[in-house]
Amino acid sequence: MLKRLEIVGFKSFARKTVLDFSSAATAIVGPNGSGKSNVAEAFRFALGEQSMKSMRGKRSEDLIWAGSHATSRSNRASVAIVFDNKKRIFPRLEYDEVTIERAVFRDGSSEYLINGSKVRLRDVQELLAGANVGDTGHHIISQGEADRILLAHPRERRAMLEDALGLKYFEFKKQEAQRKLERTQDNVREVEALRREIAPHIRFLQKQVEKLERAEELVRELADLARTYFAVEEAYIGSEREASSVRKTQAAEGLAAASLELAAFDERSTTDSESMKRSEAIRQAEREVDRLSSQRAQLSRDIGRVEGGLHETKKRSAAVAREPYVKVTREDLGALREEVEKQAKISEDAEPGAVRAALASLRAAVAAFFDRYAAPNDDYLAEEENSVFQLENERTALLQKDAELEGAVEKARSVLMKAREASLAHEETGREEKRRILGLAESKAREESAVAREDGRMRELQMLADELERDRAEVLALAGSSAFSYETMELAPEERRAQEDRKRLLERLKIRVEEAGGTGEDVRKEYTDASEREAFLAHELEDLSKSAEGLAGLIADLDEELTKTFAEGLAKVNHSFGEYFSIMFGGGGAKLVLEEFDAEPDEEEESYEEDESDLPAGKAGKKKQGKPGIEISVHLPKKKVQSLMQLSGGERALTSIALIFAMSQVNPPPFLILDETDAALDEANSRRYGDMIEELAKKSQLIVITHNRETMSRAGILYGVTMGNDGISKLLSVKFEEATSVAK
Ligand code: ATP
Repeated sequence: MLKRLEIVGFKSFARKTVLDFSSAATAIVGPNGSGKSNVAEAFRFALGEQSMKSMRGKRSEDLIWAGSHATSRSNRASVAIVFDNKKRIFPRLEYDEVTIERAVFRDGSSEYLINGSKVRLRDVQELLAGANVGDTGHHIISQGEADRILLAHPRERRAMLEDALGLKYFEFKKQEAQRKLERTQDNVREVEALRREIAPHIRFLQKQVEKLERAEELVRELADLARTYFAVEEAYIGSEREASSVRKTQAAEGLAAASLELAAFDERSTTDSESMKRSEAIRQAEREVDRLSSQRAQLSRDIGRVEGGLHETKKRSAAVAREPYVKVTREDLGALREEVEKQAKISEDAEPGAVRAALASLRAAVAAFFDRYAAPNDDYLAEEENSVFQLENERTALLQKDAELEGAVEKARSVLMKAREASLAHEETGREEKRRILGLAESKAREESAVAREDGRMRELQMLADELERDRAEVLALAGSSAFSYETMELAPEERRAQEDRKRLLERLKIRVEEAGGTGEDVRKEYTDASEREAFLAHELEDLSKSAEGLAGLIADLDEELTKTFAEGLAKVNHSFGEYFSIMFGGGGAKLVLEEFDAEPDEEEESYEEDESDLPAGKAGKKKQGKPGIEISVHLPKKKVQSLMQLSGGERALTSIALIFAMSQVNPPPFLILDETDAALDEANSRRYGDMIEELAKKSQLIVITHNRETMSRAGILYGVTMGNDGISKLLSVKFEEATSVAK
């Protein structure tokens, strides 16, 4: 409900002028040029009209009171429309009264206020659209513009109809959703670009982490294998040592017993000189056997030492072969730097001889450095290989000597045996005793070699133990202490057989673990962070896609709503249009028809829809092409005329009035301003017009600017507008009789 209009400094209304609209129909009357149309324009202005032309101005300044000889000009024009909002025609505002105000200044700036608070034009437009007061001006019919709707382009006509049907509100919502959708799609693209950007880094980190995991897996494998290998090896060495030591003790005991018994025989047979000689020969042979045996024991210790050295050297040599370049030592680098600095000090004007000498010295130092470091480390390799070669030679020599010694021991033993046999032969001993002595000598020799065998065995076992120790040290360095958490075990003999395979695998694993190397925890952390970020982005993308989907759905719903409301509205308007038309013309008919679809855009159309400039041009174009415009089809009673162009002035006025009224009926705007819409009507039609005004006033508040007596007679309130010599419009309430004095 319209309550008041307050005008200050707008056009000819220099002073504050207030129009109350407490009646369903208000008429504004007065002489030509007194400022009546300025009242209609004041409405347009306050509602946010952007076209200066439709307010009969060129610049904003034209809207401000320009001054007269009697009164100076104003710097500000403002118009406020006060609505009764008790019925919440503006549902979003919880006030019983809503004031929409606009002010313009001489610098051209505009200000919009809703209930005194500054807002944007768009806020005003949205508020009005919600109350069915759109901005195509279908509710304000300016003077001489009654047939604007007849002259309008079909698409402009469609816009007016949409506006009248209250579709603007949905359009606003749709535009808002479209803007949000575009923003969302921008965000989607942004997030997608970000994901593309970090993807290679993540892939790189993932590979690093996989490498790390593979290395860890290898370390685990190594530790697992080492545990079994160490346990078996320890058990084997332990049990073998025990067994060997038992055997050696037994042999030593047997040896001692045989020696003792033999010594007793020897004692007996040394009584005569012959037998003394023989005894001496036997003792000498025995000493020789002892000497050679102890030499052999020393030799086997040497063999052990050489074999240990050989193992170490072979390993070093293999390491050098893997790492073929020499590491530069600090000392060598320092020496080179010193030399360079020293020679660089030579002054520019030094003797050529001195310069040559400096250069030569420099060249020599650099060459020596390169010789040492730039070539692969062949020398070292050769040196190590040479050591291996020498140690192998040494071992071969020692083994050969051992074999020789073995032969010598055997020989000495057989000498000893022969001496004993000779001694026995010459002595008067019984067969029994002889056999006994022979048996004893045999068993002594057997036990001796058994002791030597067990000594050899012990050496072998010591070598195994040493090697195990070295393996343990290496595995500790590569796989940590977890490789040692195993329990000692009893060993089944066949277990040991698998050790060779295990050992081979262990060596291979050691090399692979060394090669895999560790990449470190920081990579894992970085990978976790990057993956989390990626997951966050993926989630965000999902959210954005969902909201884009929601918005697209909303747009589709709104489109459907728009299409449906439009179709229903069109049918209703057509119904009323036909009725009003037939009342006005006493028969005939008229209707709105959807234009045959034609996608050709034209100039006229471009200039219209300026109010949608906030939509991208492409979109606006597409939208225009998507909707057919509206044509008007009429047939007058008893006439063949069908084209609008062929109608008379009065007929055109009647047709457009019928259409305007029909549109207002379907979705009544809160108010309707008609500026001399009735100017072209004869008496009979004026009456019909008056009837319709009364009918219309039941649904919308009417403000009619008129010179027509009939129209005046239908208004509840009459305002007279006059203009004196000072050029200022003045407003006064008038009685019907006073009003008719200015009527035609
Ligand atoms: P008609 O009955 O002939 O249509 P009207 O009553 O509708 O006349 P308007 O067209 O509203 O009259 O008023 C025009 C008057 O307003 C002119 O006299 C014009 O000089 C005056 N006017 C328009 N703009 C300004 C302004 N900025 N400052 C002062 N006066 C202005």
